[in-house]
Amino acid sequence: RKIRVAVIFGGRSGEHPISCVSAGNVFEALDPGEFEVVPIGITREGRWVLADGDPTRLAIAGRVLPEVTDATGEAVALAADPTVPALRAGDGLSGVDVVFPILHGAYGEDGTVQGLLELAGIPYVGAGVLSSAVSLDKEFTKRLLAAEGVPVVPYAVLRPGMELSEGDKERLGLPVFVKPARGGSSLGITKVTDWAGLDAALAAAREVDPKVLVETAVPGVREVECGVLEGEDGGPPEASVPAEIRVVAAEHDWYDFEAKYLDDASEFDLPPNLPAEVVERVRELSLKAFTALDGAGLARVDFFVTADLEIYFNEINTMPGFTSRSMFPMMWAASGLDYPKLVTRMVRTALARGTGLR
Ligand code: ADP
Ligand code: MG
Ligand code: MG
Repeated sequence: RKIRVAVIFGGRSGEHPISCVSAGNVFEALDPGEFEVVPIGITREGRWVLADGDPTRLAIAGRVLPEVTDATGEAVALAADPTVPALRAGDGLSGVDVVFPILHGAYGEDGTVQGLLELAGIPYVGAGVLSSAVSLDKEFTKRLLAAEGVPVVPYAVLRPGMELSEGDKERLGLPVFVKPARGGSSLGITKVTDWAGLDAALAAAREVDPKVLVETAVPGVREVECGVLEGEDGGPPEASVPAEIRVVAAEHDWYDFEAKYLDDASEFDLPPNLPAEVVERVRELSLKAFTALDGAGLARVDFFVTADLEIYFNEINTMPGFTSRSMFPMMWAASGLDYPKLVTRMVRTALARGTGLR
């Protein structure tokens, strides 16, 4: 019998539409001769719906982004099957062999769905509960990796109700990046070049997460990313060929949401146009971060490189963008694994791993 794969997508975070696009590409990549796909959408309100899984409805149309809804008839909507009653979290999973939770951000990439699947005893693609929770949280990720000797840029953490102290302003300097601790896709992030703009930036970040990071902006930053995959048959994790992202459009000063998905504002060099030893060091640090954070399945590890070729860890994404045009699949394609092979390998690794402590 075929392997039943539930692909869970959409979700409650601001990255909902990106997850839909990724899911559409995953549906197309899973060989129907080997896999039976169960498409499960989660609405922005958190309702689980059995979706129709038509990949053509899960694409970005101009500047309109796809959306899981539980009503039919909306213009660009992935409608639930109206004959099937709305599900509760976890419903729709009986008889499923493995889950691909292609969800970004809170309530998906943060260990919550992973916990549900552990309790249900259903194997799933990607990192486990603790690794997901830590990796989505930019504060705890930095604390743990700094303790391993991985360089991170100076930052301050503002918990709910806290303000940035004068001492921290002096220590961090301007400009700073203000970001939600547990966000993604650059949502809620502001580059602050004058302290007069700090309050508005904090408010924007706190719309995504009550906990906020304020970070020294790396001057003249170059951004380099690397894909990591869990090893096959118990082997060590593997790093892809890294890539450098360059924001080329004049209206975008940094890699914000629009530059990432809408404006064709970015280009990439695969491999980066950097000395071989810098590229190799990025790969080593990616594997170190993956291992130190108990990574499983996959991760994309992102770095800043300074004009002096110093490398700083920026963040890790345990469920990175997974559209056929996203960096993670493209870096693996350049490393010899095309999109369908990559998806198939991740599903098989998850099945072989099973659930429980390892
Ligand atoms: P997200 O998880 O939303 O992608 P990031 O921390 O990666 O959040 O920040 C998004 C983008 O903001 C980065 O890709 C980079 O362009 C810019 N950025 C964030 N922090 C810094 C920093 N300290 N220095 C320079 N640029 C930064
Ligand atoms: Mg991120
Ligand atoms: Mg990022």
